[in-house]
Amino acid sequence: MNVADSEVVASILSPFYSITDSLKEAELILLNTCSVRDNAEQRIRKRLRELAALKKKNKSLLIGLLGCMAERIKEQLLEEEKSLDFIVGPDAYRSLPELIEKASLQIVSFNVALSEEETYDDIEPVRYASNGVSAFIAIMRGCNNFCSYCVVPFTRGRERSRDPKTIIAEAQSLFEKGFREVTLLGQNVNSYCWNETEKKIDFADLTEQIAQISPLLRIRYATSHPKDISDKLLFIMSKYPNICHYIHLPVQSGSNKMLKKMNRIYTREYYLERIKKIKEILPNCAISTDIIAGFCGETEQDHQDTLSMMKEVGYEYAFMFKYSVRGGTAAAEKYEDDIPEELKIKRLEEVIALQQHLSLQSNKRDIGKTVTVLIEGISKRSDQHLFGRNPQNKVCVFPKKEYKIGDYAEVKIIKCTAGTLLGETI
Ligand code: SAH
Ligand code: SF4
Repeated sequence: MNVADSEVVASILSPFYSITDSLKEAELILLNTCSVRDNAEQRIRKRLRELAALKKKNKSLLIGLLGCMAERIKEQLLEEEKSLDFIVGPDAYRSLPELIEKASLQIVSFNVALSEEETYDDIEPVRYASNGVSAFIAIMRGCNNFCSYCVVPFTRGRERSRDPKTIIAEAQSLFEKGFREVTLLGQNVNSYCWNETEKKIDFADLTEQIAQISPLLRIRYATSHPKDISDKLLFIMSKYPNICHYIHLPVQSGSNKMLKKMNRIYTREYYLERIKKIKEILPNCAISTDIIAGFCGETEQDHQDTLSMMKEVGYEYAFMFKYSVRGGTAAAEKYEDDIPEELKIKRLEEVIALQQHLSLQSNKRDIGKTVTVLIEGISKRSDQHLFGRNPQNKVCVFPKKEYKIGDYAEVKIIKCTAGTLLGETI
């Protein structure tokens, strides 16, 4: 989401600035921040200290902070980080030119107003960091779920969907420019909803319309909340081969007691029923997840429930975190962060080790299969090899031959690691 936001910001500022790779040449440096976990914030603090040194050498350099952290701790940041000239929250990017103007007059200012309408739907993002093949399209903003550990509803505000006409036009225009994959983004894409006068458009309808642009345009999406991944969407996915059979379905914990405390709305049994349905309708579908280790009051049994859940689903991939308290959330107010740091780390390590094993098992099952890979670039390890992903979102590496970036290749898998499939084109 932050990459998509940075592309919107680049577009808003394109009449005034061009993008440079060189820190030394920069007249303006913007840091786009995330507050979801404490370590993300600590990294930004470190970066700000490094930039303060740069600012001492270049007095006219302006430094601005964007995104969730701006929203969460603006006063504290302006007080503590003297190198900052301005701060902008995720719904206030249109005010950037004004804030930069003030900053150039040495007036430190901020705009962190949250909006119930802003979706930046009229702004065509500048794809400055893109590989020219895959692009993100933000289809909604904010979140209404209030999971007890999570700061997102406070930093990004209420859920709002973007006009489907502008989303489809953006996807069409990307396809015409040569892009071959779009990832539809939102905190909770499955609750996408747009009410036309006579008709309601939900996420399944939107995905279907984008799938019809061209069979050569791949569609991915993230993130899905288990509470509203519908059978209708699964059937649409089965109907269009260009909608990738890959679902990121964060479970967070395998224990019903923890899920309740996390305010995740579903139970372990409900989640497993959804997995069963996904595998029934989309037998080749890869499933990835997010897991939090060491949430408040987590017992050894709760932790074991998470491990058994992971085995039962057989996730292809997982993003795994140890719980960090976020000020202002329900968990911070109501529950004690009582799992000692060493135990959080130990449990997280067990979760990571199990996932490594599951990923390797899943990749081994692919040996001998032929998969369609959308080529994204040259392999980091060898310029004689290309890499891309199959519909299941697995990275595949194979000899270059006559292929080029943006092509589709049929690749027979011959070897694997836990993170990569290695093959030969056929
Ligand atoms: N909207 C998405 C994810 C948003 S944040 C969803 O609902 O799944 C991405 C992930 O960060 C979450 O899924 C969760 O696993 C993790 N996360 C959020 N808050 C956290 C916290 N306080 N401590 C540790 N991990 C957290
Ligand atoms: Fe956070 Fe839950 Fe919303 Fe995801 S669904 S952004 S975890 S509150």
